Amino acid sequence: MSRIGFHRQRARLKGIYGIKARLVLLTMILVVPLMLERVRSLEGERAKEIASASSELQSLAQHSAAAQREIISSVEAVLKSSAYIHASAAEIGRSCATMRASLRVDLPSIRMLMAADKDGVVRCSTSSSFLGTVIRDRPYFQKAKETNDFVVSDFMVGQRSNKGTILAAYPVSAISPGDETVIIAGLNLDWMSGVMSNLGGRPGVTAALVDRHGIVLASTPDKVEWVGKRFSETPNGVAEGDYSSSELPPLEINQRGSSRAVLYAPISGTTARLVVSIDESEVSAQINGAIRNAYLQLALVCLIALIGALFAAERLIVRPINMLTDVAGKFGHGNWSARVEHKRLPAEFVPLARAFNAMAARLAERERGLVAINNRLTVMASIDVLSGLANRRGFQSRLDFEWMKAEQTETALVLLMIDVDHFKPFNDTYGHPEGDACISQIGATLAMIANDANGFAARYGGEEFCLLLPHTEIDRGLEVGNRLRAAIEELAIPHRTSPFQHVTISIGVAGAYPSSSGSPRDLLEAADAALYTAKHRGRNAVAEHGLPPSFEQTGVALAS
Ligand code: GH3
Ligand code: MG
Ligand code: MG
Repeated sequence: MSRIGFHRQRARLKGIYGIKARLVLLTMILVVPLMLERVRSLEGERAKEIASASSELQSLAQHSAAAQREIISSVEAVLKSSAYIHASAAEIGRSCATMRASLRVDLPSIRMLMAADKDGVVRCSTSSSFLGTVIRDRPYFQKAKETNDFVVSDFMVGQRSNKGTILAAYPVSAISPGDETVIIAGLNLDWMSGVMSNLGGRPGVTAALVDRHGIVLASTPDKVEWVGKRFSETPNGVAEGDYSSSELPPLEINQRGSSRAVLYAPISGTTARLVVSIDESEVSAQINGAIRNAYLQLALVCLIALIGALFAAERLIVRPINMLTDVAGKFGHGNWSARVEHKRLPAEFVPLARAFNAMAARLAERERGLVAINNRLTVMASIDVLSGLANRRGFQSRLDFEWMKAEQTETALVLLMIDVDHFKPFNDTYGHPEGDACISQIGATLAMIANDANGFAARYGGEEFCLLLPHTEIDRGLEVGNRLRAAIEELAIPHRTSPFQHVTISIGVAGAYPSSSGSPRDLLEAADAALYTAKHRGRNAVAEHGLPPSFEQTGVALAS
């Protein structure tokens, strides 16, 4: 890149990163922290929301586990009392009828009660459909006999109801040795469906009761199809290790690095556990939307602030500066009448604009003063103090002007060259101051005649004068010349060393029709030549220019 190109580029960049960019930056500095604070508070809200969902679910699971514990102990009490009843009634041979009659119908935790003989055959049941069922090989039956104590089965899915159920067994032999009957109770797990319905229907939450083999015993109402399936095979998003590992502490949220929190509660007295998983992203979907909106708002606000800053910078700063620059440029080109329209400017710029306008007015005034002084100086520089006529410089410029005008209007121009005769002897005789007075007198007479003839008189130098007569033919020029010569003679200024005894002048007259092929200088030379002729004729004479061939070519028309 060339040096100039580089500088231009730099100037452009300066323009871009100037006031506008700074204003934009300032706006961003003001807006961005506010918006970031809003995003940060939303993020905090999200974390709080997830935490509260987790703790709610956690306490729900705890309550469920506690309810189960209560049920188990109440069932144990019922089974023990049933065993007593059975043992006592057996003595009178009415054990089954007495046991059935003793079971309170409104007992919420027990669905049915039955008694199996030593071979595991159900001999007595509150629900007749179980009569004759063989439970000999059931683990709870065997364990009750083995331990001679209260036993609770694993959860199992009822074949008819497709619902999770638990059986509790108590051997009568524990209180009446020799009686090998085992009392069995089927537990009412309606509370479980209550828990499940509490957990169900929440976005991002899945809950299931899973036995120690990983089979789903109960699930939320919207996932009933999971019951009986392996929990790990259902689309729940929970890895088996998240709930089945024995090392995991109970009732704790197990964060697996993903956005899913898994919570599980072992059910007391059983090997089953309640597994609840929370998909944070789903739970926080709403707040995520709010955060997304906040980011969008941030972008929008920044954009609006950006456009606003640019607009404000353009209107409030750049435009006023451009207006002032324009006016300053006009001043630079000499247009002092230019003014800044401060009504269109922001208030802060008005004093500057007023000062600008006042400065322009003062400069304009000074300029006018300078022009006037200059004009005066020009005039003074063109005037001869002694005669009061234009000096040679003034004459020269007037001659150029008249030449040009005559050329344009195609009119004649006459020039008279005037020289005082024997002036050296005059000075020698009367002294230089007298000579000056003589020059002054001659000047006044010449001015008067020039005025009459609409001509322009000047002191050409020394004791030489000239008279320029625009729009004048040579004849009229000769006439004016003769009048002038006579007027000087009539002044009768004594000059005793002159043959005429008073001051006289000699005049050379030349006329021309100015054209581009000639020049003012030609006219001057012709008049000078004519003056030379007048002197040769004995002075105190008027002569017109002869006719040398060169004048025809230069466009100077000569007097005949
Ligand atoms: P000619 O008739 O041939 O013109 O003779 P002349 O004596 O006039 O001519 P010359 O050129 O020899 O003399 C001109 C004199 O004019 C010389 C000088 O002393 C005098 N002179 C020129 N300027 C001034 C002036 O401003 N004041 C006075 N007092 N004398 C001047
Ligand atoms: Mg002379
Ligand atoms: Mg002379």
